[in-house]
Amino acid sequence: MEKKIPTTCTRDCPSCCSIMLTVKDGRIISHRADPRNPITRNFLCVKGTNYLKRYNSPERILTPLLRNGNGFLPISWDEALDTAAERLTKIRAESGPLSTLWAQYSGSLSLLNLIMPRMFWIHFGGSTMTRGGISIDALQAAQEHDFGACLLHEPQDLKNSGSIVVWGRNPAVTHVHLLPFIREARKNGAELTVVDSRYSETARLADHHIAPRPGGDGYLAMAVAKEIQHRWDEVPDFVKGRSEGWEAYLAMLEQYEEAELLQRADVSREQVKHLASCYWGHKPCATFLGLGVNWWKEGGANSRLIHALVFMSGNIGIPGGGANFFNMEFPFDTAVFKEEMAKAAARGLTPLKPRRLLLPLLAREIEEAQDPPIRLAWISMFNPVASAPDSNHMKKALQNLDFVIVTEQFMTATARCADLIFPATTYLEEDDVMYSHGSSYMGPVTAAVKPKGETRSNMQIFQGLAEKLGFGEALQGKPWKWISRTWALLDDMDISMEAVKRGPVKRVQPLIPYENGVFRTKDGKFQFITDYAGRKDEEDGLFLLMVKRRSLLNTQLLDQDAETIPTVSLNPKTMAEMDLKEGERVWVSSPLDRLEAILRASEFTRPDVAELGPSVWKDDQGGVNRLHRAVISDLGPTAAVNETKVTIRKAS
Ligand code: SF4
Repeated sequence: MEKKIPTTCTRDCPSCCSIMLTVKDGRIISHRADPRNPITRNFLCVKGTNYLKRYNSPERILTPLLRNGNGFLPISWDEALDTAAERLTKIRAESGPLSTLWAQYSGSLSLLNLIMPRMFWIHFGGSTMTRGGISIDALQAAQEHDFGACLLHEPQDLKNSGSIVVWGRNPAVTHVHLLPFIREARKNGAELTVVDSRYSETARLADHHIAPRPGGDGYLAMAVAKEIQHRWDEVPDFVKGRSEGWEAYLAMLEQYEEAELLQRADVSREQVKHLASCYWGHKPCATFLGLGVNWWKEGGANSRLIHALVFMSGNIGIPGGGANFFNMEFPFDTAVFKEEMAKAAARGLTPLKPRRLLLPLLAREIEEAQDPPIRLAWISMFNPVASAPDSNHMKKALQNLDFVIVTEQFMTATARCADLIFPATTYLEEDDVMYSHGSSYMGPVTAAVKPKGETRSNMQIFQGLAEKLGFGEALQGKPWKWISRTWALLDDMDISMEAVKRGPVKRVQPLIPYENGVFRTKDGKFQFITDYAGRKDEEDGLFLLMVKRRSLLNTQLLDQDAETIPTVSLNPKTMAEMDLKEGERVWVSSPLDRLEAILRASEFTRPDVAELGPSVWKDDQGGVNRLHRAVISDLGPTAAVNETKVTIRKAS
């Protein structure tokens, strides 16, 4: 008999698609968009459309694996959990709980995948954790600094926009469900301008494309603010009355001559005039910021200079406007952590305050950690050897530890460094809840079929280990029991668990953030950036910009679909200067490593840029991150991967 089962994609993607599965005789026969979600509508991206291939892939890890020399031996769950329990107990007894590193990132963003590991480490007595990231962190920190929160307008609000500026973001690849709303807004008369050093897939759809010097976004934002300075006496009262630092911001702008800003941003006066007309002449202007402005040493300042432009031009707190990034407010009740701390105390345990290592510098931080040193790493939903900068260093740092445990679905570059691998389920085999960070929708994650092989969810893995470690009742219970413990804020919104189990539900969030002129900052005011030290390009070479592919989410790619070699695109003028030809094999070298790529000529690539894609490929352990230097941004921090410069040489 066929059954329809609603679920939600849990991948690190702002769309958070609602999905309707058809299950027959215990097999999933279809995995399609659930059109009841008005944001994700009736389509999935390429990765979603191919998800059953991932779930059914013969490459999946289906049993626990224990290192045996250079390979792995399948072992039973009992042996695997005993091994992990024995190692964890021994290392905790010898060096304390902080000698264990728990490193988790965004492989799945569902609620239990985020909270259950934290519960485990509370009951274990603490662990070393990470701070910062390799993705959104500078921009998120900048939003929280300036607005007091990271909120966005619902995509439907674009119908109110007179212009749309997509700045350092490529939704045609990374947020495909934004595109229909942009298209509808354009039919309504809004013009789309893309600011991106790359001629991205979104830039190809735009009315205007501006390609500043990589990292020059802050200078461009200042140039546009100066361009509208003759209108400053028309700046709405809202701007002056509801902000902190307006005068100091103006004084900062005064320090720069227009010509200097144009030169530093490498844009024309006409381009600046055009952007000024978006912000002032074609209001409301909706801005969508993306990772392209954040992956720099000045990623936080770049973002803040754009926020200042959006705010001072009167495009905050009005329909059709906004400095939109993501919606990072999730209504789960964090009291559950306190309750678990109390339960741990009742067992006679006082969990240590976690020690935090900087995620963008993780390899170095692991090696330098003292009192106690890191001896064991537990890595879940994260493939740092491929997705964190300086992969070779990351690999070496993991290999030098006493013991590495990885929970994974596939034999990733990080799993290859493990001593013990726990085979993990996909979202088709788990019960959970997902909150979108691209809209205010949430939805159920439903275990529609039995887990493949002997795979287990992260929650089940930690529950099994909790039993072995004698945590008593702690961590036990079914997924929805745990979800219910986080539900108080949703109860206040009149959202029932039963409704969410049935499909997508809109949670209560402001439609137009800051519409009342009150910001979530301490003083309730918008915070202007008042100081910008500028940027220095210290190294010679070409900027290395990564190209995200539609088929690839970060490093989540099946080996069978992976390309065997990346391509690198250069401007034909750059190629001529280097005596290089289309189709040649070249070495792309940074100070850290080199990799081989096939050369492509593109008129649309800036002469100071090398565009490399995809970011991982077959049989490579680190992908493009072998080249990326581990450098951090000013806020967040995030990995400032775009700071890496490369040289290109013929591969002979
Ligand atoms: S990856 Fe994003 S767009 Fe694709 S199915 Fe998942 S949520 Fe939807």
